[in-house]
Amino acid sequence: MNFCSHCGNPVSQRIPQDDNRLRFVCDNCNTIHYENPRIVVGCLPEWEGQVLLCRRAIEPRLGYWTLPAGFMENGETTAEGALRETWEEALARVREERLYRLFNLPQINQVYMFFIGTLEDKKFGVGLESSEVRLFAESEIPWKELAFPVMAQTLREYFEDSKKGEFTVRISDITWPSKRKPASR
Ligand code: ZN
Repeated sequence: MNFCSHCGNPVSQRIPQDDNRLRFVCDNCNTIHYENPRIVVGCLPEWEGQVLLCRRAIEPRLGYWTLPAGFMENGETTAEGALRETWEEALARVREERLYRLFNLPQINQVYMFFIGTLEDKKFGVGLESSEVRLFAESEIPWKELAFPVMAQTLREYFEDSKKGEFTVRISDITWPSKRKPASR
């Protein structure tokens, strides 16, 4: 951050009074610009043992397959965000959505929340951020062409859990050696 979004003057990093962290503070109007983690919400849409994936039409990871997911918007719940992303990217509606997977990524200040949802019907299409959308059986999943490791992990666990018929909510922390950062999302 270089400039204050309130008055347009330069900001500098300092620890405000009664705080213990470096913050961006406006040199002119003293507004403190707090930065907090962002939440990515997504959905694993299922249909008779298959899952719906989208091929990304945008960077990062253009051309790779992903679960519908994106940043949560103000004014919506996490489940609403997951359903919205599913509609925007795959033109699909799901029902019976329930939380399935939570990943903390503290090094990039993100939290991922994936829901499982059942497609309302077999209707879906290619949303704005996708170039192709289709259903995959487990044997067809393009494991080497998945956009992000959290997607692969979620899908692997989903197919394992499907065999047991029991979907437990799991929470895990993803970290990596500090010099190397994977693509976010
Ligand atoms: Zn300012």
